[in-house]
Amino acid sequence: MSDILNVEELFGSKVFTVGKMKERLPKSVFKEVKKVMEHGGELSKESADVVAKAMKDWAVENGATHYTHWFQPLTGITAEKHDAFVTHPDDEGKMIMEFSGKELIKGEPDASSFPSGGLRATFEARGYTVWDITSPAFLKEDATGVILCIPTAFCSYTGEALDKKTPLLRSMEAVSEQALRIVKLFGNTEATKVVASVGPEQEYFLVDREKYLKRPDLIFAGRTLFGAPAPKGQEMEDHYFGAIRERIGSYMKDLNIALWKLGVTAKTQHNEVAPAQHELAPIYETANIAVDHNQLVMETMKKVAGRHGLTCLLHEKPFAGVNGSGKHDNWSLSTDNGVNLLDPGKTPNENIQFLLVLSCIIKAVDKHADLLRQSAADVGNDHRLGANEAPPAIISVFLGEQLDDVVRQLIETGSADHSIQGSKLVTGVSTLTDIEKDATDRNRTSPFAFTGNKFEFRMVGSADSIASPNTTLNAIVAEAFCEAADILEKADNFSQAVHNLIKTNLIEHQRVIFNGNGYSDAWVEEAEKRGLPNIKSMVDAASALTTDKSVALFEKFKIFTKVELESREEITYETYSKTINIEALTMIDMAKKLYLPAIIGYTKELADTVKVLKEVGADTAVQCDVLSAVSSELAKANAALKALEAATAKAEGIEDAKAQAYAFKDDVKTAMDALRKPVDTLENLVDKNVWPVPSYADLIFEV
Ligand code: ADP
Ligand code: MG
Repeated sequence: MSDILNVEELFGSKVFTVGKMKERLPKSVFKEVKKVMEHGGELSKESADVVAKAMKDWAVENGATHYTHWFQPLTGITAEKHDAFVTHPDDEGKMIMEFSGKELIKGEPDASSFPSGGLRATFEARGYTVWDITSPAFLKEDATGVILCIPTAFCSYTGEALDKKTPLLRSMEAVSEQALRIVKLFGNTEATKVVASVGPEQEYFLVDREKYLKRPDLIFAGRTLFGAPAPKGQEMEDHYFGAIRERIGSYMKDLNIALWKLGVTAKTQHNEVAPAQHELAPIYETANIAVDHNQLVMETMKKVAGRHGLTCLLHEKPFAGVNGSGKHDNWSLSTDNGVNLLDPGKTPNENIQFLLVLSCIIKAVDKHADLLRQSAADVGNDHRLGANEAPPAIISVFLGEQLDDVVRQLIETGSADHSIQGSKLVTGVSTLTDIEKDATDRNRTSPFAFTGNKFEFRMVGSADSIASPNTTLNAIVAEAFCEAADILEKADNFSQAVHNLIKTNLIEHQRVIFNGNGYSDAWVEEAEKRGLPNIKSMVDAASALTTDKSVALFEKFKIFTKVELESREEITYETYSKTINIEALTMIDMAKKLYLPAIIGYTKELADTVKVLKEVGADTAVQCDVLSAVSSELAKANAALKALEAATAKAEGIEDAKAQAYAFKDDVKTAMDALRKPVDTLENLVDKNVWPVPSYADLIFEV
């Protein structure tokens, strides 16, 4: 049968894998490459030339005509500038495709077209892309042809990071170095590095492309800016884990194939809570590669959707009143000799290394809750965090019954003498096997939950890069490890010192532990009593980047300089203002050109009807009723439209980036909500045939 998929053959077929390098490179060069990949350093110029040639030959054999330095500027998406492999033809007019080590290692895109915060003034337009040898090159295939993509970092002329990858790589080195100090204290002297592993679960919506194209708000803002709720929402829960529909199934199949070819281990797929919402999760991998792959997942989701007459919406809140989309960022740390520092084992109370690591993470999360919150901030995510569907905007740690019990014992007595064990789940049916229950239940409402042998950071937005959350996690945990190692390396009685330290960490930071319902109002109150920050918006979160605490942390571990942090805060404000500005202008445009004309037309139709009915002496009470209701809402919409125009113009005129972002958040967004309300009411009042755009029901129930 020809349609049997050979996944083993497909997998990584478009990737210049370590295996392919091994086959194609001379042994000595391959050894050098491996060494740099694993332990840093620089490739010699000669070796770089050899690698470049082998990479180019492989790419050309697979149809590539161009290469690109693929990078992740602070726009949150990836950027590429294509260069053909063509060179100057020789005397006889023959052209040989070439690619040098220099071209592999360094590129120079025009940096002025990417956000740089305040950095632009100091570095002008110069910026360099630098090859990231730890993330494999791959081939992208689309209408442009086949392009060799080389993952790169993007830095300014003076070395400041202008992207998301550079700080992530720096943070991985920092956490590795500090975690090594911890494992050494416990006798693990063989480990040479500690790797942060990440598995992101990606949620997304699919809508019919024809309908999408009739909604300017979806086109320009990625979310609906108007729309009355459908008669049925997600209350029946019939979609979640329901059978996958044919059209969606065929999309998922193509998506998996495309991802497997790119070396992405797409593993699970299912429907999500909302109708038209789905999820894909790959198997976890090294943080840096997981970040690159998540970008590829998002890009590929969109690309493949087009081939199926669908559009993939990655926005965190495409539809008001319907579940939004997030990205669960599963994170753990493992030594290169195979020990997961977050694996408690069967009896965590006896696993002192684990308890120390856990107490350090709790300390880090409590101390830097504001930074962690900031790392998950993006414009779309403001609609989710704190609403009753996503974790609250308050950072807390969920440990589950077993670990919570161990932590309580430690806090109370300084030692823990037992661990609650999972019991058997008795089904009561003789033909069903009784299964071992996990010692902890799930808690879906916590933003930072311990889930077996990893933490799951659930605040991240679906459209956002996962680079910042993981950079922040690595950084804050590196700091806590460093502080622990500083004490323990000097201790005369290690065993006593480590017990004391675990206890101190837990006592000082237990306020961040919360195992209850994170969606409840009671928690908001309780968190306030505990002094935990509740940062509601991206704009409020931005200043966390430049506090003294943050600058001290990031400078100490050489992840960000103060200047880089300031530029990132600035970019946050700019991004926020730009996004809300586009949304406001789109609303104004839709109101003026679509909604108001349609409604005015409808009132005329009603008025004509009334006139004709009156002429023949018929009753016009119903028609007059509708006309009066519609006219009243129309007047409200018109007034709200004017107010939105004024608020937007005013915000646009503000010079200071922070003040401008606040104006967009406080004034423009309020005016947007005020316009949406009467228009949504009108959608329910007027004839469906005159409504100018597809409804929520059309969009989410008819995919
Ligand atoms: P869920 O029940 O939340 O869907 P899964 O067990 O399916 O959780 O895992 C979700 C993600 O977590 C997957 O990408 C998986 O590969 C990843 N994951 C599993 N173990 C680890 C780990 N030790 N470190 C990081 N990520 C992990
Ligand atoms: Mg999950």
